[in-house]
Amino acid sequence: MTGKTVRVRFAPSPTGSLHVGNARTALINWLYARHHGGEMLLRMDDTDSERSTKEYELGIIEDLGWFGLDWDDFARQSARQDRYDAAMERLKEKGRLYPCYETQEELDLKRKILLGQGKPPVYDRAALALSAEEQAAFVQQGRTPHWRFRLLDEPVEWDDLGRGHVRFEPGHLSDPVLVREDGRPLYTLSSVVDDGEMFITHVMRGEDHVVNTAVQVQLFQALGYDVPTFAHLPLMVGADGKALSKRIGSLGLAEIRADGTEAVALAAYLAHLGTAIAPDGSETMADLARNFDIKGFGRAGPRYDPAELETLNAKVIHHLSFDVVKDRLAEAGLGDADEVFWSAIHGNIAKVSDAAYWWQVCNGEIDPAVDAEDRDFLTQAAAALPEGAWDETTWKTWTGALKEATGRKGKQLFLPLRRALTGRDNGPELRDLLPLIGRDRAAERLRG
Ligand code: GLU
Repeated sequence: MTGKTVRVRFAPSPTGSLHVGNARTALINWLYARHHGGEMLLRMDDTDSERSTKEYELGIIEDLGWFGLDWDDFARQSARQDRYDAAMERLKEKGRLYPCYETQEELDLKRKILLGQGKPPVYDRAALALSAEEQAAFVQQGRTPHWRFRLLDEPVEWDDLGRGHVRFEPGHLSDPVLVREDGRPLYTLSSVVDDGEMFITHVMRGEDHVVNTAVQVQLFQALGYDVPTFAHLPLMVGADGKALSKRIGSLGLAEIRADGTEAVALAAYLAHLGTAIAPDGSETMADLARNFDIKGFGRAGPRYDPAELETLNAKVIHHLSFDVVKDRLAEAGLGDADEVFWSAIHGNIAKVSDAAYWWQVCNGEIDPAVDAEDRDFLTQAAAALPEGAWDETTWKTWTGALKEATGRKGKQLFLPLRRALTGRDNGPELRDLLPLIGRDRAAERLRG
C-alpha cells in the first residue's frame, strides 16, 4: 500500500437514519483517512430505489455534518448504472457471470433440503449446467434470469487489519447473485465496482461483512481492480450483550444529539470503545485523528453503554471553551451569557442545555427549596449577607461568619444555603455563583 494515498469510503444506504453503529463505521473511516493524510468518500448505496429516499440521504448528510465528519468526494450509486452494466459485460465475457432461472420458491426448497441433510446451504450451480436449449425453454416460459458470479474453487485469503489473517476454504460459499432479474446490480457488485473504480485503498466496516468480503475479493480480481486492504471490526453490543439492533430508537444519531450529547464526546467514546484507552474528554477531533490506531481495537464486541457516554459528555463539557459554545448558548436563548457565567457553571453540568437552568439561577426566578426547620437559619443568613462589591471571596467570608454565629458546619451549613439559592442539592460552586446571583436576588431567596 505504500506510496498510494489512503482513500476510504463510508457507504450508507439511504433507507433509514444513521444509528450509532453506522456512525462508528463512518468515524473509524474518517479517523483513518485523516490520520494518514488520506481522503474520504461518502457514497450513497441507493440502488434499492424502492427503499432509498432523498430525505434519508439529506438526514445522513446532516447527521454526519453534526458529528464533525467531512468528505473529499461524494457519489451516488443510482447514477452509476452504466458502470455496473459495463462490469457485468466484462464478467460475462470471462465466463464468470451466469444466468439462473430458479424462482425464489425453488431456491428455498433447495436450501431446506440441504439443511435437512445437515449440509451447508450452498447453491448447487444447477444453472451452470443448463444447455442452451434448456435456457431457451425457460425464457419461453417467460422467466427472466438473475445472474450469479462463478467463484473460483480456491481458498480466499487476506490480511485483515481487524481480524488478522482470514481464510475461506473453497466450497463453503454460494456463487452470489450479482444482478437482479430487472438488470439492477446487487450491493456485492456495485460496491466492488465503485471501490475499484474510485481507487479505494481501505475498506473498513463491521464484521458482519466478512463473508461478503470473501466473495468480493474474487470479484475485485475478476474485474481487474486492485484488492483493497480490509478491516472488519467487531460489532458493538448492547447492555444485554447482543448485537445492537439496527432499529433506531435511542440509538439513532439524531436522538443521541437531541439528548444533549456533544458530537466530540460521541466521537471520543466511539473512537476508544473496545480499545485499552479511556478517553478523558479533552481530545478534539484533530487529536482523535492524530492518535488513531486501527490496530488498537480488541476482538470482542465492545459494549455500547449510554451511561458511560453521558459521563464522558460531562467531562467534554468541562473542557469546552466559551468561544466554542457561545453560539449554541445564544441559540438556547442565553445570548447574554458571558465567559464568567460559562466558567462558573461548565464544570458542573452534564449537557450544554443545562446552562439554561443556571442562567435562571443567576438572572431570573427559581423556586428556592427550603425545609421548614431551616427557615430561621436562612433568615439569619440573609441578614448576614456581606455589603459592598461581591467576588469569589464573598461566599467564604459570608459562610465563615455564619459558621461562627450559628455553630453549623459542613452539610448542615452549606446545603440549606445551596437549596435556597439554587433550588437544587447539587450544582456549580456557590463561590462562583453567588456573585452572579447578586445580593438582592440572594436575599429574596433566603427570606423566602
Ligand atoms: N451499504 C452497505 C451497508 O450499509 C455498505 C457496506 C460496505 O461498507 O461495503 O451495509
